Formats: sequence, structure tokens, C-alpha cells
Amino acid sequence: MKMSNMLMPTLREVSGDVEIESHRLMLKAGLIRKMASGVYNYLPLGLKALRQIEHIIRTEMNDAGAQEILASALIPSELWEESGRYQAYGPELMRLKDRNNHEFCLGPTHEEVFTAIARQEIKSYKQLPINLYQIQTKYRDEIRPRYGMMRSREFLMKDAYSFDKDQAGLDLSFNIMKETYQRIFSRCGLKAIGVEADSGSIGGSNSMEFMVPSVVGEDDIVHCPCCHYTANIEKATSYLETRTNTDWLELTEVFTPKVHTIEEVAAFFNVDAKQTAKTLIYTADQQTIAVMVRGDREVNDVKVKNFLNLTEDIVLADEMTLEACTHAKIGFAGPIGLNVDHLLVDEEAAGLANMIVGANQNDKHYKNVNYSRDFSGEIGDFRLVQAKDLCPHCQAPLEISRGTEVGHIFKLGTKYSKAMNASFLDENGKAQPFVMGCYGIGVSRVLASIIEQHHDDKGIIWPKNVAPYQVMILIMNMKDKQQIKIAEDLYTQLKKANIEVLLDDRNERAGVKFNDADLLGIPLRITVGKSITEHQVEIKARHEQDLHYIDIDEVVCYCENDRSASDLLEG
Ligand code: ATP
Ligand code: MG
Repeated sequence: MKMSNMLMPTLREVSGDVEIESHRLMLKAGLIRKMASGVYNYLPLGLKALRQIEHIIRTEMNDAGAQEILASALIPSELWEESGRYQAYGPELMRLKDRNNHEFCLGPTHEEVFTAIARQEIKSYKQLPINLYQIQTKYRDEIRPRYGMMRSREFLMKDAYSFDKDQAGLDLSFNIMKETYQRIFSRCGLKAIGVEADSGSIGGSNSMEFMVPSVVGEDDIVHCPCCHYTANIEKATSYLETRTNTDWLELTEVFTPKVHTIEEVAAFFNVDAKQTAKTLIYTADQQTIAVMVRGDREVNDVKVKNFLNLTEDIVLADEMTLEACTHAKIGFAGPIGLNVDHLLVDEEAAGLANMIVGANQNDKHYKNVNYSRDFSGEIGDFRLVQAKDLCPHCQAPLEISRGTEVGHIFKLGTKYSKAMNASFLDENGKAQPFVMGCYGIGVSRVLASIIEQHHDDKGIIWPKNVAPYQVMILIMNMKDKQQIKIAEDLYTQLKKANIEVLLDDRNERAGVKFNDADLLGIPLRITVGKSITEHQVEIKARHEQDLHYIDIDEVVCYCENDRSASDLLEG
């Protein structure tokens, strides 16, 4: 493409609400433009990079035996009523009505649609397994769109759904996708790690997220440096130190005016916060739920939700509900004499001997409280893992770092097929629900993550496999007919050799062209300037500092070798 007539509006400065480098660079290099909060238009260069990623995904998915289809983004609400998600999905679901008042939604994900397709089209076990995928625009009315393409309200997703006749088949389909995902991310030049993820009430190791380590990530990843146990914080567990002290002292009520927070309690009793326990009151699904964890801990909301099989997320109770449950002001909740639908006790808190807790009375705490003697509740793992907790497998101290989720693979089992009555006939002619898996990749988020991992202070440094163009030719002096002639010849030859090439033939100063070349990040830069008198051009790789001069006749060969070396490396 010749840049003289290309829509490639690079910017000197980017203003507005731009918090991360990938977002800034995508605007600055003219890849995307914002239309509304979390809604963007792709310009030519951005779309070309996106297409490269799609190409890698398509090749790998097809090689894995999956088949591409394209479903409608506009979904009749009835399908979502069948699965029970039309209400449960909440305000993130974009809903609309047609002229006849029929309700629709814009698909945020497509389990229902693909299940309906299978229900309609797949009749017999002989047709299984089948894995169907699409690359399609998704809609989610995110509460907080941010970071450009990382969390937008309209984005491109590759979503795949596998249909198997039994669990063993699903396990196989899942493993194939796991390996496929690893290859996709590595070909995209992305360092992504697979982490154990929450799989809702289905539980087990049925869900894996692919995370890109990033300081601007919105997820916390728990990692063991010794045995490499890795899990999303929502799912992570830690080693439980067993209770040793059974020397229980007498339960005592203590007057504690103005002592509310755990810090104040620990200071008042002159103990470590680890000797106290806190009881938090939540509501969800019209139930009151108290969760008790050690004083220095936080509650893991997702574990609570899964344990009680709730449809809603838990939220902290309002003041009135709290006072109805505890009969006291905020700050004095405790496990003894509490009026709630569920009291969940974290296993670690249950093991504490002689702990200090709120007394459910104003200005009072209890000391020497012991589980089973003084109160009881439903015991489980409800705590949020903290850095330095011990690894559940090898007991080394755990580390926590930030990451961005770029992909998610999930064993759905028969959740949707049962709810939507989607079945096939087995070997004995009996109807059985499909055993399903689903597999998502955020294509636009992958694009942003690649730039997040590959840039410097001058601009983008595209990994070769996803670069919108492989080579960029710069003409230094647009008044020099010889330079123009040589550059245009090279441009034509490279195109003939099937190498994607950009020609900077704009009437701009050399400095502007160099700056834009760095900003756009095309892997190889060829500068046609004064050295043509020696029949040479300058070559520079975007990710290296060194300049080389090569003979003009060797340019095509050089670029071809450079490209095939990259295929070997990343392909
Ligand atoms: P997150 O926790 O980041 O909201 P999610 O769990 O909602 O992600 P999935 O429903 O598993 O995501 O969607 C599959 C993939 O789609 C994600 O792995 C992510 O890469 C991408 N994705 C999800 N939400 C967005 C969004 N708002 N903008 C861009 N990509 C997204
Ligand atoms: Mg989400």
C-alpha cells in the first residue's frame, strides 16, 4: 500500500481518558478511533492487524478439526429464557425490541444459539464429536468500559462450542482446545499462561483461563514459584494449617466501646489480628448470608456463591438488614446469636482456638470463642488467598501478580443441553443430552495485549506473525526521482513476492517518516536515501538498534528470508 493515499491518521499527542500504553498507541498510530464509551471503529491498519490474528486463530481451529460458522448477533429473547439466563445475566446484556414488540438481545456469548443449532441439526451419536466456532462481534454493556480494546462494549470474540456424547469425549475435546490455545497465543507472539479458573457450581478443574501477565491486568493470579501451581484468585486455595491448641478458655463477654474495626479490636485486646475473626453479612437470592473469616482475611465472594449455588452475586447487607441480623450497630457482628439464613465459617477460622469476635450487642465483643463449643455453622473454604499464604500442593509461599484474561476454556457438561432439551440418539436409540464445552478468545483484547507486550517509547513493535505489513519502504527525498524510482521498483518486486509492504511516498520530511515508522512498528524498515549512489539501501529491524546496508538487488531475498525465519520461530 502506498501511504500517500492511505487513511492512516497518526497523531502527535493523544488526549482524553487513556490509561494504558496499548490504548494510547492504537489511537496514536491511527489503528482505531473511539465512537462512544467502549465502542470503537477500526481504521485500515488496525483492521489489518486484527485480520492477522483472526487468520492465526482460523488456521489453528481448523487444524484442530473445528468448523467455522457465523451465527446471528441478534438473538430472540426466548432462547435466553430457555437457559434461564435472560434475567440472570443482568444489565450487561444489551436488550432491544423490534417493531412488533418482540424482545431480542445482542449476544454477549453464544451458548444458547449454538445449543439450539445442535438441537436442530445433530441427531445421532454417529455425528459426534463436533466442534463449531465463529469469529464474531459481541456486545456487553460493561459497567466500566476501559483500557480501549481491553474492556469494550462491542468487541470481537472467537467462540467455539464442542458437542460430545460423553464426559470422556468432552475431556478429549477440552484438551485439544487447551493445546490449540497455547499454539494460537504463541504464534501471536503473546506470552500467555494457563491458570485454573473458577467454574461456578460445576467445580473441579473444568475451567482454564489464559492470562497475559500485565501490571494493568484486572485479574489477580496466584502462583507458586516452586511447583508452579497457578490459579485465578477467585479459584485459588491455600494450605490449611491444622489446629493444634485445644486448651479452650472460658467464654467471656468484654465491654469494648468505640472498638469497631479489626485493627481496633486487635489493639484493644493487644493481640495479633490473626487471633480475631470477622463476620460479614451479605445478601443474595433473597437470603441473608453471614461469612466468618480470620480477622486479617478477606472473603472470596465467588467461593461463597458457588458453595450456596446462588444465582446472584453476594452483596454486603445494608444497614437495616445488618441490624436485623445482629441486633447491633455495625462493627459488632459475630457468630453467636446471629439471625441469618446461612452462617458460613471459613475452615481456618473454625480452627482458631480462643478467638475474639463481635458479640452481636452494641459495644461488646466475646473472647475465648471456640467453634463447636460456642457456635456452629457450615464449614468450607471461603477465604481469599493472600501473598505469602502457603501453596496447597507444596507449601511454599504463594505469590500474586496481575494479569489480563485473553482466553477461557470451560467444560459446560450438560448444563445448557439439559436446560434447552438438546439431545442426540445414542447407540441404543436413547435420547441423551449433548456433553458440551465452550472456548472463547477475545480477539480485540489479544490485539491490545500484543501491543501492551511489544512496544517501546517510540511506538509499536509488531511480532512478525501479526504485523499488518512486513516491510516498510521509506523514500528520504521526494524530490529525488532516482530514489522514487528505486523505491517503487522494490515495492513492486516485494508485492510480487507476496510480501506485505507499505511505501512511505508522502511529501514529508525524513524525520516525520522515521518517527512514523517507529510508531507503526512494521518489522523491517528499508530506507531509500543517499546510499543508492553505492547501489545500496539501509535496512533496520524494528526490534533492533543496528542498521545494515545491502545491495538493492538483494532486498527481496533478504525480506523473504526474514519472513520465513519468523514463521519457523512463531509458527
Ligand atoms: P472478564 O473477566 O475480563 O470480564 P469474562 O470472564 O467476562 O472476562 P468470557 O465471558 O470468558 O470473559 O469471554 C471470553 C473472552 O472474551 C475473554 O477471555 C476476553 O478475552 C474477552 N472479553 C470478555 N469481555 C470483554 C470485553 N468487555 N472487551 C474485550 N474483550 C472481552
Ligand atoms: Mg466479563
